[in-house]
Amino acid sequence: MAAVKAQGLSRRPVPRIEVDLDKLRHNARFVVDACSRLGIRVAGVTKVTCAMPEVARALLDGGVSWLADSRTENLARLKASGLTGEFIYLRGPMQSRVQEVVELADISLCSDVATVRLLGDAAQFLGIRHRVIMMVDVGDLREGVMPEDALDTARAIAETPGVELYGIGTNHACFGGVMPTVDNVSLLVEIAESIRRELGIELPIVSGGNSTALRLVFSGTMPKGVSQLRVGESIMLGVDVNNREPIPGMYQDAFTLVAEVIEVQRKPSVPIGCIGQDAFGNVPVFVDRGIRDRVILGIGRQDVKVDGIKPLTDGAEVLGGSSDHLIVDVTEAVERPVTGDEMRFRPDYGALLAAMTSPYVAKVIV
Ligand SMILES: *Cc1c(COP(=O)(O)O)cnc(C)c1O
Repeated sequence: MAAVKAQGLSRRPVPRIEVDLDKLRHNARFVVDACSRLGIRVAGVTKVTCAMPEVARALLDGGVSWLADSRTENLARLKASGLTGEFIYLRGPMQSRVQEVVELADISLCSDVATVRLLGDAAQFLGIRHRVIMMVDVGDLREGVMPEDALDTARAIAETPGVELYGIGTNHACFGGVMPTVDNVSLLVEIAESIRRELGIELPIVSGGNSTALRLVFSGTMPKGVSQLRVGESIMLGVDVNNREPIPGMYQDAFTLVAEVIEVQRKPSVPIGCIGQDAFGNVPVFVDRGIRDRVILGIGRQDVKVDGIKPLTDGAEVLGGSSDHLIVDVTEAVERPVTGDEMRFRPDYGALLAAMTSPYVAKVIV
């Protein structure tokens, strides 16, 4: 049932994101089980949901060993909701915010020695030890020290008062689109071994990557020695993040976006008049498909990434959107929505990120 009448006393808020916690719990369990067979523990990454506490709880129920997020505000939200366990701060801390980081996170990813010293100072002030996972760049060229600098940086971090060098980690496919491979993950494991040998420390965590690294887990080629993966998108959306294909055995429909039709019209497919720029400074291009049936929904770019949502009504096609309006061609739709109907959409990662972040989109557990 793609178009549902929205009227009635018990109507749910629109627009909204519906969250199916059972599916998230299943997806988390699926990843945790696959990883645990290889001695890998999973950090469940909550940032795409702004660390919605119910989602974090579902990940913990699915067996993740840590909750991880890139925003201190989100870690604070988890703490305030009473969730316990170890929290990981995922982004290199800002020097201006080290105090929040050590208060909210047990572990942070960091590779800047000056920042690590400030983390250590803040930790000592609180009478605790903060654990650091030093990021190493194996090719994607986002965060982390280059492999040739890893040992010296590790030594500096290990010698910092208030801080424990708890592990090393790497990230893939974020800036450079570089995929995790046996070679680049093995490089991380070798660097870990040389740090253990040279510095005589335990270094328990080798954090082998994000969701993209699951391909090595599922194909059975993950190099031995990786002890942690940090997984967000694959748990949330059930996809292989290297190609966005569904992972068999996981749910792709834990999140559904719902918006309401505010207008139904038959209109030409090409605008009438002299085309300048649209609301966002682009010059739009149109193909003449004759007169089409279109609906306008009360959701827009302030709520969602409009090219990142797929209508669940077969035959319906998103034409585009402005700040507050989404335009959908329903000429070939199997169901013709009327004003007041709800339409349902499947969001991709970018669309989910925007919708979860928008204060205008209600978040509803189903
Ligand atoms: C966001 C993030 C992750 C999780 O990435 P997914 O692709 O969602 O699994 C892992 N590590 C770091 C450092 C991140 O910023």
